[in-house]
Amino acid sequence: MLHCCNVVNLPEELRLLKKFHGHLGPYVVVGYRMGGLARQKLVGRLKAVSFTGTKPPLSCIIDGVQYSSSCTLGKGNITVLEAGDAKVQFLDDKHLVEISLLDKVKEGIDRSMSHDTEELLALTIFNEPEADLFHVTTIERSPIETRVKLK
Ligand SMILES: [Zn+2]
Repeated sequence: MLHCCNVVNLPEELRLLKKFHGHLGPYVVVGYRMGGLARQKLVGRLKAVSFTGTKPPLSCIIDGVQYSSSCTLGKGNITVLEAGDAKVQFLDDKHLVEISLLDKVKEGIDRSMSHDTEELLALTIFNEPEADLFHVTTIERSPIETRVKLK
């Protein structure tokens, strides 16, 4: 069988993401989708809390989140916790949106990810409907909590 890797035809969005991140794998696209989803659900300036930790490949989620949500380490509006979970919380003044990657999706990625398959997996994640990827919870924040947290 002809082994022809990394000849995936990437849409423009993913080519730019690849340029930003240095390579293209499923987890950076997971983060990219999470940040995009948060942007749809929340308004104004966002803060993000990433539960991924700082160890790749899971931490690649952070770069995707930074790229699509504008929450960046440089601006100080993203925090990374060493929890080892494919989960990110996003906050605006009134709401908290928690987005977790479904276990079955994460297991599928971890089972099949390799140097040869990462771009194809990334493209699959990019095209998957939200409901097939994520569990999303939206919580209304109380005024007191808002005041304390935004200090
Ligand atoms: Zn990566």
